[in-house]
Amino acid sequence: MAAPRSTSCPPVPFAILPLNGKRSSLVWTETRKDADRIVALPAKEFQAELETRFGLRLGEVKPLDAPKAFPLGYFVAQSFVAPRMALIGDAAHVIHPIAGQGLNMGLRDVAALAEVIVDAARLGIDPGQADVLERYERWRRFDTMAMGVATNGLNLLFSNKSPLLRSIRDIGLGLVDRLPPLKGAFIRQAAGLTGEVPRLLKGEAL
Ligand SMILES: Cc1cc2nc3c(=O)[nH]c(=O)nc-3n(C[C@H](O)[C@H](O)[C@H](O)COP(=O)(O)OP(=O)(O)OC[C@H]3O[C@@H](n4cnc5c(N)ncnc54)[C@H](O)[C@@H]3O)c2cc1C
Repeated sequence: MAAPRSTSCPPVPFAILPLNGKRSSLVWTETRKDADRIVALPAKEFQAELETRFGLRLGEVKPLDAPKAFPLGYFVAQSFVAPRMALIGDAAHVIHPIAGQGLNMGLRDVAALAEVIVDAARLGIDPGQADVLERYERWRRFDTMAMGVATNGLNLLFSNKSPLLRSIRDIGLGLVDRLPPLKGAFIRQAAGLTGEVPRLLKGEAL
């Protein structure tokens, strides 16, 4: 049997991110002490711990890989650009994986950077010059900060022990689920389809 948990149902975020087939990526957040204990469990005990946490509502769950633990943080580079250089993806920003947005943000960086480079080249401007790269930085910094605040907020909301805050969260989630326009707005936001969307993400040629 798995070693007893520090609490029976700790208020730590546990996100199930569906992949293709019957597979999911799990983002299982724990305190450092519990994380060290859980990743060190023998396979059978880990499976029992996972079943306790995941539940069996989707049937039997089976880990496909050995669990790995990473310290979580929120980092945004002081600057996304420097002379003839631009940072993209996790090199520019690292956010909590609870909303599964890190890779999507990196793809938005790539699409925005490609667009400013192509626009500059068409005008005969050096694509590596400072004002071209600064356009990329202005474009991506706001979205990055907004997503960082949103994911940190989600993390705080889902890891909070306050019964009042948890009730407000559950009511809020229930409301979003029942109001298709509101739900649609959240989905568009998560898909990066709000604000100034790079042409490549709209399926348009550069
Ligand atoms: C548990 C977890 C779940 C996640 N789930 C999701 C999700 O569902 N959806 C989502 O959108 N995002 C998710 N993310 C975030 C996503 O994985 C990252 O945002 C994304 O992988 C970042 O891509 P990247 O190419 O910028 O960096 P990385 O994927 O880190 O790639 C950088 C590469 O550079 C290599 N490298 C590093 N240093 C050097 C060097 N000096 N020389 C040569 N190579 C080097 C590394 O080995 C690595 O291969 C998750 C993250 C975690 C931790």
